[in-house]
Amino acid sequence: MKKHLYILCLFLLAGFVGLAQGKPDYGKITLVIHGGAGTITKANMTLEKERAYKEKLNEALQTGYAVLAKGGTSLDAVEAAVRVMEDSPLFNAGKGAVFTNEGKNELDAAIMDGKTLKAGAIASVTTIRNPISTARAVMEQSEHVMMIGAGAEKFAKEKGQEIVDPSYFHTETRYQQLQKLKDKEKTELDHGSGSGSAEKIFIEGKKFGTVGAVALDAYGNLAAATSTGGMTNKRYGRVGDAPIIGAGTYADNNTCAVSATGHGEYFIRSVVAHDIAALMEYKGYALQQAADEVVMNKLVKRGGEGGVIAVDSKGNVAMPFNSAGMYRGYIKNGKAEVAIYK
Ligand code: ASP
Repeated sequence: MKKHLYILCLFLLAGFVGLAQGKPDYGKITLVIHGGAGTITKANMTLEKERAYKEKLNEALQTGYAVLAKGGTSLDAVEAAVRVMEDSPLFNAGKGAVFTNEGKNELDAAIMDGKTLKAGAIASVTTIRNPISTARAVMEQSEHVMMIGAGAEKFAKEKGQEIVDPSYFHTETRYQQLQKLKDKEKTELDHGSGSGSAEKIFIEGKKFGTVGAVALDAYGNLAAATSTGGMTNKRYGRVGDAPIIGAGTYADNNTCAVSATGHGEYFIRSVVAHDIAALMEYKGYALQQAADEVVMNKLVKRGGEGGVIAVDSKGNVAMPFNSAGMYRGYIKNGKAEVAIYK
C-alpha cells in the first residue's frame, strides 16, 4: 500500500513538473493567414482565379500547420506559410510584388516572436527572393531590428539568403496595373479637380494583396509575419506598415499576434497591430473585440481601408476587415477554412 502511494506521488510530481515546464499542447495549435484585403468582389473574380487563390491559401495553411503539428515553433510556421505565398505570383509579396511609380519592385517584410518580443524587418529591397526569411535573419543573426535597401541586401547575401535578379519580380499583370494607374493619374492631372485626387488615384488599385501569417504553437508561443510589395505606384523610398513593428506586424505571448493588410499610411498612423494588443493588455478586451474596435471602428472613422488577422494565446482567431474582401484562412485541429468575400 505504501509502495502504491509512493508511485502515485511520483506520478503527480512528474505531472506538476511537466506543467511547470510547459508540456506541449497540440490541441491548441493554430495558424491564420491572409493574402491581402481590398476591392475583392465576386463580380470582378473568375471562377478559375478564385480556385487558384483558394488552392494557394490552402497550401500555405497546410505547409505552416505541418510545422506546428511536428512540434515546430510558431516562428517556423509563420515563416513557412509566408514563403509559400511569396513564391506565388498571385499575391503582392515576393514573386507577385506590385510596381513602384518608377517601374521597380521594392519589398518590405517583418517577423516578430511573441515569446522574446524580438523582431526583425527589412524594407525597400529589390533582390531578395524571400524577404520574410531575411527579416528573420535580421532578428536572429544581427543586433538590429530593421535594415533597409542596399544594406539589407548586403546582409542577406552574407547570411546566405537567396538573391535573385530584380527581373524575377516582373509579372505582366502587376505591370499592367501600374500602367493603368499612371494613365488615370495623367488624366487627372490634365482634367482633374486637384486637391485630394492624387491620393485617391494612389489607392485606386485597392487590391492590396500583402501576405501575412500568425500562429500559436504547442508551447504556447505566438508569432507574426508580414511580407509585401507595398502599394502600386508608390513613390521612391516609400515604406508601408508591413515592416513597421506595431503597425503591420506585432506579437506578444501576453496578448496576441497580428498581421495587417491595407492602406499602409493609415495603418502606420493608427499603430494598428499594437493598438489591438494594447486594448487586450490595458483594457482586458477579448481578441475579437479588440480587433473589431481598431479595424471596424477606429480605422473606418479615419478612412483606413484594410483588415487584420490575429490569434491569441488561447488559440482564439479574429479576421476583421473593412474592405470588400480579404483573402484569408485558418487551420485548427487539422481543419482548414479559407474565404475571400464578406
Ligand atoms: N499594407 C501594405 C502597404 O501599405 C499594402 C497591402 O496590404 O497590400 O504597403
